[in-house]
Amino acid sequence: MKTLLTEEQLREGVQRLADEINTVYDDTPLTIVGVMTGSIVMLADLIRMLKMPLRVGVVAASSYRGTDTTPSELVINSDFMPDISNRNVLIVDDIFDTGRTMSELIRRFHEMGPNSVRSAVLLRKRERQEIQMEPDFIGFDIPDEFVVGYGLDYEDAYRNLPYVAALESAEIGTVPP
Ligand code: IMP
Ligand code: MG
Repeated sequence: MKTLLTEEQLREGVQRLADEINTVYDDTPLTIVGVMTGSIVMLADLIRMLKMPLRVGVVAASSYRGTDTTPSELVINSDFMPDISNRNVLIVDDIFDTGRTMSELIRRFHEMGPNSVRSAVLLRKRERQEIQMEPDFIGFDIPDEFVVGYGLDYEDAYRNLPYVAALESAEIGTVPP
């Protein structure tokens, strides 16, 4: 695999996101909801850079691709979600790919009576985008390659890499150790 974003670049990118988030919310209390499992590394780094009174929760989202004719359905597990009614909410995910996960999460969250819902993603693959929406905070735009590390996985492996790397085509399809 080849490195796409180094530890140093990631640190700068997450700090830039944190600066933007601190500017937008200032001292307003915020609830951050990380999308499991890919967001955990970014979440740990990001929340320590935020200055407003903060609550942190997580939500699990997985898309089950059906047959070719069935659109993929997003299954959301909110067992570990904090109460977001009357709260300002920021959803944090690792990557905005087609945009289906984020747009569907925002739609569902709006049904829970929050004050506001915004979105932050570490990465965005512009070429893959299918949903017409712009995340409020974006770390890096990346080319259409499958990336791992800093929380992102391939078959649940590589999440612990401190950098982000693109898999070579030979590595895709083989089961990681
Ligand atoms: P979306 O709903 O198509 O935007 O998909 C977003 C989800 O797909 C992310 O939360 C990731 O779990 C996963 N994903 C998309 N692209 C990649 C990638 O390059 N590496 C690892 N996971 C990815
Ligand atoms: Mg994910």
